[in-house]
Amino acid sequence: MSYHIPSDEQIEKALVKVLNKFHTVQSQSKLKQLINKSLDTKKNRYGVTGERIRKVAINSDFIRLEIHSREGDPKKLLTKCPVCEGQLKKVKNLTIWGGEVTIEFRCSTCGYWTGKKKRVPTRYVFYLKKK
Ligand SMILES: [Zn+2]
Repeated sequence: MSYHIPSDEQIEKALVKVLNKFHTVQSQSKLKQLINKSLDTKKNRYGVTGERIRKVAINSDFIRLEIHSREGDPKKLLTKCPVCEGQLKKVKNLTIWGGEVTIEFRCSTCGYWTGKKKRVPTRYVFYLKKK
């Protein structure tokens, strides 16, 4: 028995297999379990972190990611996306009535967004995109 780190291609193939079977996976830890199980063979054991699986899933075009979050510290400075480490874009919204400005940050890679109270991701749900 030997231990391996899978390539991105191997992870992507495992994601196709797992999501075709389950369609929706309710958490990153559950997905990690399923992916590692799917990669394992009699001779080889694979080890991959949930974070790496999430990044491959975000870069693939057949998975939709739903981000559940809680409110975080408004004073916290976000320099990059907490989900995929992508760049956050500042979006200013002017409201028609008071002229108040609300500032949001958005990630164009994974769809994460946050307002003043920095959303802290707590759980990820992975869906197979419908064709
Ligand atoms: Zn992102």
